[in-house]
Amino acid sequence: MNVHDSEKMSGILKGQGYIETDNPRDADLVIFNTCSIRQKAEQKFYSELGRIKELKKRKPELTIAVAGCIAQQDGQNILKRVPYVDYVMGPQNIHKVRDILKSGISRISIDDNPLIADTELPVERKDGVRAWINIMYGCNNFCSYCIVPYTRGRERSRPSGAILNEIKGLADKGYVEVTLLGQNVNSYASDADFPELLKAVDKIEGIKRIRFVTSNPKDISDNLIAVIRDRDKVCEHIHLPLQSGSTRILSLMNRKYGYDDYMRTVDKLRKEIPAIAITSDIIAGFPDETVEDHRLTLKALREIEFDGIFAFHYSVRAGTRAATMPGQIEDSIKLSRLNEILELQNDISERKNKALLNSVQKILLEMPNEKDLAKISGRTQTNKIVNVIFNETNKTFNPGEILCVRIIKANRHSLEGTIT
Ligand code: SAM
Ligand code: SF4
Repeated sequence: MNVHDSEKMSGILKGQGYIETDNPRDADLVIFNTCSIRQKAEQKFYSELGRIKELKKRKPELTIAVAGCIAQQDGQNILKRVPYVDYVMGPQNIHKVRDILKSGISRISIDDNPLIADTELPVERKDGVRAWINIMYGCNNFCSYCIVPYTRGRERSRPSGAILNEIKGLADKGYVEVTLLGQNVNSYASDADFPELLKAVDKIEGIKRIRFVTSNPKDISDNLIAVIRDRDKVCEHIHLPLQSGSTRILSLMNRKYGYDDYMRTVDKLRKEIPAIAITSDIIAGFPDETVEDHRLTLKALREIEFDGIFAFHYSVRAGTRAATMPGQIEDSIKLSRLNEILELQNDISERKNKALLNSVQKILLEMPNEKDLAKISGRTQTNKIVNVIFNETNKTFNPGEILCVRIIKANRHSLEGTIT
């Protein structure tokens, strides 16, 4: 979501005549697009901000802006604390980049949460093959650990016509894969619901693959499962964050499902779509998590056998309900639980990847592998990264092409294959 927001800011700036540079020394304007989902992201931003101070000293005319969720959270305080920052604007005010730069007013904070980020904005995408598209903004779920509803505001769905037009435009430019973005795509609700939207995207000529993130387990419908099963372009992969294997902790997290509900959804998905890959998010060391709760999470990982997970230790976010819950866990315990989770999942991911050895997979080619130019990176329908080795006879390739590839090597986080 955050990276896509940066694409929108780039789109606006390009329209104003700005040119992108990799080197901050060449820049007249530097925008930090920040994330505040966990403390580590915040720390990273503040240390980067410290580094840019020297540059501003040498080049006082340099404009520095802070955008994104930290901007929304800390607003005026950033301007008070950091005298060399000129503008602060939250993720719902991206469209104002244009106006503030034009106005020439400096030292301004825009964190008024106006809920109008739905304005259609130009987007500067670089990939050429795969594109992200917002279908909705914000979130109403208020999971007790999460800052998103406070920084990105309440849930708003874009009209389906605007989404479909954007995707048609992308298909005309040669894009073949789209990922529909929302904090909880299953609660998409405008003139269509989410399964209806997927069916409409499926009809767009030129688009070969459709993905979506993120699905909240509480809102998975039979209609959605049927669309993934029946429409070839809708990829057989679902990111379904579990967060914890303990129903007691899930309730404290305000997730509105228990472990048994989650398992029923997994069973249904696997029954209807046997090849589906399921990935997840896990939080280690949520307040009041006991050794037994942690054990239930490990048990869940063994039972479900996810294709991959993103796991994090719980990070206190000021203003959320969990921040003031009793039973906060010591950092060292959070970290050791996180390590156990990651080690277990690494074994599972490797085993699942090894099961694909010698199989033939349809790979959508993306870009040459940065580390090894004799390989081209691509992905399976199930979103596994495959480095495709090409030889003299199949030297030419087109990003966006789908090829049949035999898997000859399986690593923990990627596969290797040859063109059949
Ligand atoms: N909307 C998505 C959902 O509910 O599945 C998740 C979006 S959130 C940006 C991505 C992930 O960050 C969450 O699934 C959760 O695991 C993690 N996360 C959010 N807040 C966190 C916190 N305070 N500490 C640790 N991890 C957190
Ligand atoms: Fe955060 Fe929960 Fe909303 Fe996801 S569903 S963005 S975890 S509040």
